[in-house]
Amino acid sequence: MDEDQFRKAAHSAIEEIISYRRSLPSRRVLSTVQPGYLAPQLPPSIPTEPEPWDAIQPDIDKLIVPGLTHWASPNFMAFFPAHSTYASMLGELYSAAFSAPAFNWLCSPAITELETVVLDWVAKAMALPESFWSKGEGGGVVQGSASEAVVTVMVAARERMINRLTEGLEGKEKEAKVAEVRGRLVALGSEHSHSATHKGAIIAGTHFRIIPASKETGFAMTGEAVERVIKECEKDGLIPYYLTATLGTTSTCAVDDFEGIKETLRRCGKDAWVHVDAAYAGAALVCEEYQHLSKQLEGMDSFDFNMHKWLLTNFDASCLYVRHRTSLTSVLSITPPFLRNQFSDHGLVTDYRDWQIPLGRRFRAIKIWFVLRAYGLSGLQSHIRRTVKLGQYFHSLVQSRADLFGVVSGPQFALTVVTIKPLPPTARAVQNELTRKVYETVNKRGEVYLTNTVVGGVYAIRVVGANPTTQEEHLRRCWEVLVEVGDEVRGEMPPGGGAR
Ligand code: PLP
Repeated sequence: MDEDQFRKAAHSAIEEIISYRRSLPSRRVLSTVQPGYLAPQLPPSIPTEPEPWDAIQPDIDKLIVPGLTHWASPNFMAFFPAHSTYASMLGELYSAAFSAPAFNWLCSPAITELETVVLDWVAKAMALPESFWSKGEGGGVVQGSASEAVVTVMVAARERMINRLTEGLEGKEKEAKVAEVRGRLVALGSEHSHSATHKGAIIAGTHFRIIPASKETGFAMTGEAVERVIKECEKDGLIPYYLTATLGTTSTCAVDDFEGIKETLRRCGKDAWVHVDAAYAGAALVCEEYQHLSKQLEGMDSFDFNMHKWLLTNFDASCLYVRHRTSLTSVLSITPPFLRNQFSDHGLVTDYRDWQIPLGRRFRAIKIWFVLRAYGLSGLQSHIRRTVKLGQYFHSLVQSRADLFGVVSGPQFALTVVTIKPLPPTARAVQNELTRKVYETVNKRGEVYLTNTVVGGVYAIRVVGANPTTQEEHLRRCWEVLVEVGDEVRGEMPPGGGAR
């Protein structure tokens, strides 16, 4: 493809993208294709001869779009949102054009320096403790995902604990002690922390223990619960080295008791690394009304949130902040001769490869920069506030049919979690089955897309309408669909249970 062909193809692709996005409100959110739909429609091997863009482009609409789940639809209310915006897409375009796996500063100084600046901008906007800003001993780095951030800091936490417990030892004695300590390390996370913590413990090769977080505490992990599990770990000879605390759990958007957890760790004399996973809800910290939570991050070892969930930026843009950057770089920095250069050797620059697991990295800061400038802080704030209000609106609709809906939690960070109540005299014991049936029927219709969860043994439906194009009318329609299906399904349920 030469310049002229690129120009023509790019213009046409952009027109097509705009009309795709315009069409989203009227499309089914969920695809109807069956597993394996694609391969039979594609040739069995690479075309031998080059194909012009005019031949390639029509296949997007014909073959790809039918197999898409439309995450950018205003009717996408499942999981958490994964935003994409035009400003951010332009960033992706430039990132592709500059094509630099900028692992070292020297590999493209602008890429590294812009990342440091935009992450400081974001830290400042969110009133994160200054220990997370780059001017001190901490700083931020853009990772691919919140899960990647968890694994990265877990490895740093593991090595920090091993180093502390083997300090002063040498040679074989040290080797033996390291092996012994490694086998006893345990990572902790609440029963509602994201599965990334369990997965991270597997990757880091350590034990993992779950801390209960019940309905009584709003599904938030408390200091007392942490203390109980730490005591059990001690009895079992395990050493807690890492804990995930969550700001906005996946199931209900609960916020763990940060102060209580810090106090417990202090009292128990544990220097476990505390990572705050704020993958979705962290975005709300751009608004002053949520910044009491930012203050509570003081003393935490790391904090991560995804701009690509709720802050108008395309996947992937996970912002990880650490209090001591050396806790990452001292563990993850390995420098073969081909990576050496005068700037890195003299410690004049940041080499983000030492803050992450892979070597190569994408130029993600440019899309963040575009988003921050194109929306401004006021634009980011009004987006968060508008979607939080949409959550409140949905909750008010739910309350207007209190005979049909039970509220498990919310509205919290735009998320409301509901159950469907059986008609009296049907036993409440069938509520889970009823809610599951309603959930499955709604998604089968495909007009809106929702996800389910199970909290405290209760099967529930999560509704989070927080896309930039989502309006009250979409949440009202979602509520109407739930009411239609809910009334229908529970009407079919015989007293005593067992939906027909
Ligand atoms: N942490 C929390 C609280 C989440 O809700 C999610 C995903 O929704 C994740 C982590 C994983 O995010 P990612 O897909 O960026 O790894």
